Amino acid sequence: MFKRILRELEKEVSGEIAFNYVSEISRHHRIQASPGFRAAVQYAVDEMRERGLEAEVDSYPADGETYSWSSLHFMEWECTGAELKLVEPAEEVRFLARWSEAKLSLIQRSHPTPEDGVEAEVVVLEKGEEEKDYRGLDVEGKIVLTNGDLGRVHEFAVEQRGAIGIIFDGTWVRPPALVEGELDDALRYTSFWWAGDEKPCFGFVLTPRTGRWLRKLAKDKKKPVKVWAKVDARLYEGSIENAVITIQGETEEEVVVVAHICHPQPSANDNASGSGAAMEAARALGRLIGEGKLAKPKRTIRFTLVPEMTGTYNFLARNEDRIPGMVAALNLDMVGEKQSVTGGPLIVERTPEATPSYVNALMEAIYEEVRAEAGNLGGSARYPLFMHAVTPFSGGSDHYVYSDPTVGVGCPMIIQWPDKFWHTSYDTLDKVDPAMLRRVALMTATYSYSIASAGATEAVWLANEVASRGRRELVEKVQAVISDAADVLEGDEAGKELAKILTRLKRIVPYQLDHKVGAVKSVGRLAGGDGGYEAMEKELVVALERVAKAERRRGERAINGIAEMRGLAPLPSVRRGRLRKIEVEAQGIVARRLFKGPVSTRPWVRKLSGEDREVLWRLGKDHPESRTLGTLAMYWADGERSLLEVSGLVELEAGRTDLEFLVKYFRLLGKMGLVKLA
Ligand SMILES: [Zn+2]
Repeated sequence: MFKRILRELEKEVSGEIAFNYVSEISRHHRIQASPGFRAAVQYAVDEMRERGLEAEVDSYPADGETYSWSSLHFMEWECTGAELKLVEPAEEVRFLARWSEAKLSLIQRSHPTPEDGVEAEVVVLEKGEEEKDYRGLDVEGKIVLTNGDLGRVHEFAVEQRGAIGIIFDGTWVRPPALVEGELDDALRYTSFWWAGDEKPCFGFVLTPRTGRWLRKLAKDKKKPVKVWAKVDARLYEGSIENAVITIQGETEEEVVVVAHICHPQPSANDNASGSGAAMEAARALGRLIGEGKLAKPKRTIRFTLVPEMTGTYNFLARNEDRIPGMVAALNLDMVGEKQSVTGGPLIVERTPEATPSYVNALMEAIYEEVRAEAGNLGGSARYPLFMHAVTPFSGGSDHYVYSDPTVGVGCPMIIQWPDKFWHTSYDTLDKVDPAMLRRVALMTATYSYSIASAGATEAVWLANEVASRGRRELVEKVQAVISDAADVLEGDEAGKELAKILTRLKRIVPYQLDHKVGAVKSVGRLAGGDGGYEAMEKELVVALERVAKAERRRGERAINGIAEMRGLAPLPSVRRGRLRKIEVEAQGIVARRLFKGPVSTRPWVRKLSGEDREVLWRLGKDHPESRTLGTLAMYWADGERSLLEVSGLVELEAGRTDLEFLVKYFRLLGKMGLVKLA
């Protein structure tokens, strides 16, 4: 189905052209809702029009008031200059930050200072995230230096204690991909995310090295350290834009490709790269269709270059009537990386299992073909020259809006992660690799055009591809359970342990079967009601059911066999003991979702009491690994399942759950008015 399309595209798609797009986009300072962002969107639209494509700027209010589903639109922000100068001690006078040197040296969305600037003492905080960090400190009228959570410091230092500004010198370590010191001279992308009535303030960003120096200076000198700060900026009612590039089809159905075009200058890989790759995919398809080398597709292909998340919420909320016609989507996020420098593999991230879809099998099949780029000496094998992976859903970018079951558009993501330089001033054009952009543009064009042009015969291939991959995964899941059983050591608890594994097997198989059948059935809409197709689909489903049955039997035999050989047979029956307290609580909670799309908590957090905000903060701190679980749980919450059932599904999907986190998280979402708890 897709190979002929891929071969045609290989002759047209250019990594260099995509690189030129990335280069142009990365020149702009693309803060969501700002003149720089608008200029980048306009550039993309003009460029696509020049290539003969239909493209438009889709503009909507940036007023800090309008919502798209649960997502609050930003206020527009413009900055024309900013400077931070050390003025005392006199012998150390120097500039610490200048907008004209680096846009990232300012905390984005800073409010202006008085026209002549302000002079203030610097108070050094360690992090400033806790009440106790302020004991014995007077920050009123002063500027605090912190490397802690900006929202938290704003609340404690500015809102509650009257500080007038913030200097931020934080960084990341993410071993083994990113170790201490690697970002010592990098500015971290830092922004205020205003959601309404917060106390205005401004802020600057220092590199960790400069931060250390300033901290030492403040510690060593007896005299106070003073700075002079000036920010020329304004927040106002303006507009925010999506670029929409369209390759017209013949039906009401469409395939959507999304890439966020926002982020500060330079932000090349994040995500000028995704935008550039999307533009190149659009250009190549437009040209091949124009020349008649590819037929005009049945379905429309739409490329949207948006401010991350907010643009997608807006695009979907305003085109809600079109969502049922969206047969698939694809998200491109950080796709052009020079892996030897940035450090991470090219990843295809699957859709969440609450939205089973054929898109995963198709994207993976395309990926395997694109990866076969170099051959061995004898020509008997082909393999990739880059790092690669396919992973389960994790979220964190625009695909998480599309793939939410309340939207229901299967949307994989192509991403490169980890990237050492993500969200810092080091994310520059020299870390972008045209060869990588080419691979991703090829995958994008092949994927979108294959789906857009698919009919009954293509659906036959695709359903079989989905089913055969599904079978293989089912077998692997069962084998993983058998591996766990083989690792159970002899001992008092061994029998019980094996019995539990057996119970797990009995839950995993039907869950997996459901998911695989759902994915096969999702192909049907591409077949357009063809009778022959439908008969074949039924057979595929029956065959999957047979595999599931046989696999369950295989698993049971293996586990019971292990038990017998260890003298543990017969295994005790696992009786459902009394529910733990937290389980009883979760059983009593049924969450009904009040908004389409995942919840965008930014403005809603302000509705919580101070006490509840504290609970939310602790929740994030104490359960750092549970964020994705919260998203998955949201997807499974259908207004009927109890939170206990939802947690069970999360465990089947992710291999783990965190009930304590989920109960607290959903209670807070209830208080924010984002879900209704019954
Ligand atoms: Zn980003």
